[in-house]
Amino acid sequence: MPASQSYAVTIAGGGLGGLTTALALRRRGLRTTVLEQAPQLGEVGAGIQTAPNASRVLLGLGLRRQLEAIHTEPQDQVRRRWQDGSIIATLPLGDRVKREFNAPYWHYRRADLHKVLLDACLDPQGPGPVVEVHTGAQVVDIDVADPGRPVAITTDGRRFDGDVLVGADGVRSAVRDAMGLPDTLAFSGEMAYRALIPGDKIAADPATRFLMDRFHSTIWYGPDRHLVHYLIRGGEYLNVVAIVPNTLDIERTWSAPATADEMVDAFPGWDDRVAAMLSKAEGDASKWAMFRRHRDPVWVDGHVALLGDACHAMLPYQAQGASQAMEDAAVLAEELGAVTRDGIAGALTRYVARRATHAGMVQDASLENMRFYHLPDGPEQQERDRQLRAFNGESDVSYDWLWRGTPRDDADLESFSYPFVR
Ligand SMILES: Cc1cc2nc3c(=O)[nH]c(=O)nc-3n(C[C@H](O)[C@H](O)[C@H](O)COP(=O)(O)OP(=O)(O)OC[C@H]3O[C@@H](n4cnc5c(N)ncnc54)[C@H](O)[C@@H]3O)c2cc1C
Repeated sequence: MPASQSYAVTIAGGGLGGLTTALALRRRGLRTTVLEQAPQLGEVGAGIQTAPNASRVLLGLGLRRQLEAIHTEPQDQVRRRWQDGSIIATLPLGDRVKREFNAPYWHYRRADLHKVLLDACLDPQGPGPVVEVHTGAQVVDIDVADPGRPVAITTDGRRFDGDVLVGADGVRSAVRDAMGLPDTLAFSGEMAYRALIPGDKIAADPATRFLMDRFHSTIWYGPDRHLVHYLIRGGEYLNVVAIVPNTLDIERTWSAPATADEMVDAFPGWDDRVAAMLSKAEGDASKWAMFRRHRDPVWVDGHVALLGDACHAMLPYQAQGASQAMEDAAVLAEELGAVTRDGIAGALTRYVARRATHAGMVQDASLENMRFYHLPDGPEQQERDRQLRAFNGESDVSYDWLWRGTPRDDADLESFSYPFVR
């Protein structure tokens, strides 16, 4: 688009979804402003997985060199039983995924991935206009008196207007509230413990040393709870997510600090190696109530659009929430980047048409996994384990469908199709 026809987009929220969107729009020549409520930009200290559908988006944004510097590549996905750790099934990742999906399955520390995106948004040498980022800017309301110039209003009364306003402000989106959309938030009754365990502590204990043998993405299945772990930063940390029935007072708090002892206590009767692993959590362990949104196709009103958890928050039982936000970002940028100011409303409609059904299916599938993962031992569990061995995904959506992502028509996609497998 010629610079004279470029227009301005305001994004509420500087999380992984908001920053991916800002970078994608910048590369299309759009002027982008990010409003983040936190005094500093960053992500809580935990890990994140990007399956090929999200890795493809990130690589398409020209981030290959930066991602190669921060990623860890799991060679397999391993599924274990709770009582004795016996392996139910193994799915090769690594080169197999790159070969079949032309994009990798990678793990990162969240803060590292967030920084890569932020640096690219702010890089004066990068393509397109440098992204303007305001921290300490909590959006509390919007003004759409002029529907073509939506205004985001912050707590201190500042007004940020633009041609488009994107609410990428997470599961409790203020933009969504200000749009007056129906409340689709639902509590799952579960919570997640999250911890980063130093890899050297894992390696030093004979009971847990096996976790360092090879880079895996591992899921342990047990009645009412499951455990996910993987190494990040080349083994510097073991990232752990442990899902259990909720004990948080969600009326008062959605998250709280956690201790290693309570994590161990949350897995009574499990393989001793689980306790050996969890007992090494230190410092920044935490617990989070697990919320999701019901499927909601209403993501847009005029020139205001929602993105990421703001419109399709899902349970993390397919590790796809941020990945779906990244797909949103790519599709939104394709649509907005292809029109001038007059075409914005149509572009936003097409964005929803291309993304809402897809993201809704992933939401549903993630919810389905809550039951599937947590079956008590018995015939249903045995049938589940049989399915996992004959593996092509865990739920109604196959990995083949999920990892190919929303169809794109982005020429950038070719720019990273190098020989991943040498
Ligand atoms: C335990 C767990 C594990 C997960 N693992 C994975 C995984 O491996 N892979 C994956 O793809 N997904 C994963 N997810 C999901 C993923 O974390 C979320 O889906 C993702 O962070 C959503 O990104 P977002 O940018 O939409 O929202 P958020 O990450 O919530 O970001 C929203 C941003 O907006 C800011 N904000 C909020 N309100 C306002 C406001 N009013 N004004 C201005 N700024 C505001 C916030 O401070 C924040 O920076 C996991 C989730 C959990 C809970």
